[in-house]
Amino acid sequence: MDRNIDTVFTDPQFVAAPQMEPERQYYFIDLMKTLLLARATELGRKPTMHIETFGCQMNEKDSETLAGILKAIGYEESDGEDADLVVYNTCTVRENANTRVYGRIGYLGNRKKLNRDKRIVLCGCMMQEKSAVEKIRQSYRFVDVIFGTHNIYLLAELLYRREKTGKQVIDVWDKAKEIVESLPRYNKYGFKAGINIMYGCDNFCSYCIVPYVRGRERSRAAEDIVEEARHLTENGVREIMLLGQNVNSYGKNREDGIRFAELLRMVSKVEGVKRIRFMSPHPKDFPDDLIDEIAANEKVCKHVHLPLQSGSSRLLKAMNRHYTKEQYLELAAKIKERIPDVALTTDIIIGFPGETMKDVEDTIDVVRKAGFMSAYTFLYSKRNGTPAAAMDNQVSDEVAAEHFNRLLQAVGETAAEQAERWTGRTETVLCEEYKEETGLMTGRLDNNLLVHFPAEKEALGTLVRVRLEECKGFYFLGSQL
Ligand code: SF4
Repeated sequence: MDRNIDTVFTDPQFVAAPQMEPERQYYFIDLMKTLLLARATELGRKPTMHIETFGCQMNEKDSETLAGILKAIGYEESDGEDADLVVYNTCTVRENANTRVYGRIGYLGNRKKLNRDKRIVLCGCMMQEKSAVEKIRQSYRFVDVIFGTHNIYLLAELLYRREKTGKQVIDVWDKAKEIVESLPRYNKYGFKAGINIMYGCDNFCSYCIVPYVRGRERSRAAEDIVEEARHLTENGVREIMLLGQNVNSYGKNREDGIRFAELLRMVSKVEGVKRIRFMSPHPKDFPDDLIDEIAANEKVCKHVHLPLQSGSSRLLKAMNRHYTKEQYLELAAKIKERIPDVALTTDIIIGFPGETMKDVEDTIDVVRKAGFMSAYTFLYSKRNGTPAAAMDNQVSDEVAAEHFNRLLQAVGETAAEQAERWTGRTETVLCEEYKEETGLMTGRLDNNLLVHFPAEKEALGTLVRVRLEECKGFYFLGSQL
């Protein structure tokens, strides 16, 4: 645990704080509100905040909670790093992401010289690394607050400490304690929102830092998830994305026996929910009852994102993925057979230690046979602290680039073939983005494909029927019925 918190901090307001959560955090939100009002009077305007999110959807989701807390305090959102308070919610999945963040912190330090009251907050996965926190403690003294992934709910409390002590506050925990429910949240889109159903991961894929920085798997109570879905739909949300590092092992450590298929059923019973998505399942935990639930439940999108990582059984073993090429293909075939029109998408890592062109050919074979609608392809990035980083057969950058190009070509061809099958069909789409300049709406199909079509701005956030007229590879041009 990395903390510099003064346990004898005797500020009377602090001592009087409730001990229970989330009451304690609402108390600090109120205290910060008062401090911010005074600041607004000095400035003659509302203080502003900006959150920069690096990395995955889990971080995006955490940033919504951070934004909710800051808005409840009274900050106004701004979209630049000149804001009065800047939060970097960091990622550490790739080594070069850390270098980028240090560069950006340096830039913020220069901005702070022009505005002494500027506050800089760093949080997220990178802060779970002792070496990163030490570097910031030594070289970036101007950073105000640092915390990790397990205590994001403490933002208001830590900001209050910073204001009252005038010192840098560091509070990074090794492990999660409790799951704190009912914090304010800010939903960026209004019509779609993510809900964390679990935190952490127990899988320890040999290349991945997540289990070390986000801790062991913890599932939220199903009734809290359903309540959050109900609350979101009462505020206009139509599409819910259930989020977790390994969603289909949901409930594994809970005693109520509710597993992921049943959770899907429970969330779909919330009246205002029109669509449910989930991200990401692990191929090793995909039971038949889950496939049947996706097939039968009208509200569950017919899109399964099934991370492959490699099509080589030899590499899958080295990656500690717990399935072979054949088992993956068998699962993909079963999903396609039982869920008509399902779209399969995936993640693939290229350049894992020991990878040869033969392994890449195996991966391409899976891409073709599974018929992925799209694939996120990543170049392997060595992460210190993971077993794969210590493997002595690392692949050179040139070889990895050659493998990558070979894969990309196959992915592009397969994706275009798959998308083409939808040409001429009429589908329901969620209107997600409107461009004034072109008058075009971007809508998302149930299967996650995008379509652009002329529409009124007012349709934003609604579900409409669109004919898919022309396939452009990864997206369609269409017209609304
Ligand atoms: S399932 Fe594997 S890749 Fe995904 S978060 Fe867990 S350890 Fe990382």
